[in-house]
Amino acid sequence: MNFNRLVLKVASRCNLNCSYCFMYNLGDSSFRNQPKFMKEHMIPEIITRVANYLAEYPQEIFTFTFHGGEPLLIDKSFFGKFITQAEVLKEQFPDITFEYNIQTNGVLIDVEWAEVLRKWKIFPGVSLDGTKKAHDMYRKDHKENGSYDDVIKGLKLLKYRLGFVSVISVMNIDETAKTTYDHLTSLSSDYVNFLLPDYTHDSFPYEPKAMGNWLIELYDLWIADANRPIIPFFNGLTNAVLGSAKKGRHEAHALVIETNGDIEAIDSLKGCGESFTKTNMNVNTHDFKDIIKLPLGKLYFEDSTEKLCAQCVECPVVAICKGGRLVHRYKKENGFNNPSIYCEDMILIISHIQNKMMELVPSMYDDSISKMDATEIIEYINTLDLGAMKETYKEDLEFFSVV
Ligand code: SF4
Ligand code: SF4
Repeated sequence: MNFNRLVLKVASRCNLNCSYCFMYNLGDSSFRNQPKFMKEHMIPEIITRVANYLAEYPQEIFTFTFHGGEPLLIDKSFFGKFITQAEVLKEQFPDITFEYNIQTNGVLIDVEWAEVLRKWKIFPGVSLDGTKKAHDMYRKDHKENGSYDDVIKGLKLLKYRLGFVSVISVMNIDETAKTTYDHLTSLSSDYVNFLLPDYTHDSFPYEPKAMGNWLIELYDLWIADANRPIIPFFNGLTNAVLGSAKKGRHEAHALVIETNGDIEAIDSLKGCGESFTKTNMNVNTHDFKDIIKLPLGKLYFEDSTEKLCAQCVECPVVAICKGGRLVHRYKKENGFNNPSIYCEDMILIISHIQNKMMELVPSMYDDSISKMDATEIIEYINTLDLGAMKETYKEDLEFFSVV
């Protein structure tokens, strides 16, 4: 067991009703039994469980992510109370860095909220799926009105008050990659966390390779843009292609606490069916490590990384793709014993990045280059003349191509 991010579901309801939401619209209605908000009296119990965990499983960085539903529905005072009480962890574990972030739909962001985030150093990620057309296609309120205009107001306010914008963007291939990229960068986004839409093998709506081709177009725009934002999806893949030690966090590095204190696996698994993430464990009665005794905990913390399907085990890019996220492997018929629904897309984008790196950094096998991480490599790429591609590296390119 090794997780370094605790997702705190501080609100179980939402002011939006996005059609692709795994909380409400993908087959799990267990939110109805949850209290609407996390109560303050649970804070000491959560912190005690974190302390017990970290004493046994020390981490370099431990992150608290405030989440929902919509976390900005809870009273603003909750955040100060939580973070003040969590100070004890810093004293107890001086070698661990504690961070706070929040994932919000952005509709309720106002000056007061910006001040709360600034004061308590809570890093906000705001959901925005690209253009108004792409965003409002899925992200509507309970009256079916699109939320784009309100989100943009919130983002502009955050940029002004906090000096940066961090966007979480579910990929939408109904909009072109170029339009999406141009729009998100026009907002001066510093950080764009692109996410593959959460479907299972039973609900996957796309043609094979459609997402992969979209990703390739997006990657080329990104890599050619000297002012590119951080895109963790691309940074992570590029890192992994380059063999860097820093390969990003695995999905199983997070655990969820529901509004009533229940301990659960990552919430995207709600898309696998009714009450799929339930453990019947609660911070009042259980330590985090107890989850590993359950089949779900074993699946989540061990099997998801160690037991891949036969096709993944044989795959030439398994070290980079890692079999994809758990929810993307799920099929009612045989559980998780499948490649990702994005398998062909991942092969396309990974082989494209391999080829791109060989084009841009043919000297990547020099010791000095191969020790760089993706950020350093990208800085290095910025110094290159992108027009000067070398025919002479064609053989290498073909060798590294896996399709
Ligand atoms: S904003 Fe988030 S939690 Fe709310 S409905 Fe949309 S995806 Fe679900
Ligand atoms: S690319 Fe496909 S086969 Fe290869 S590891 Fe990923 S999901 Fe598995």
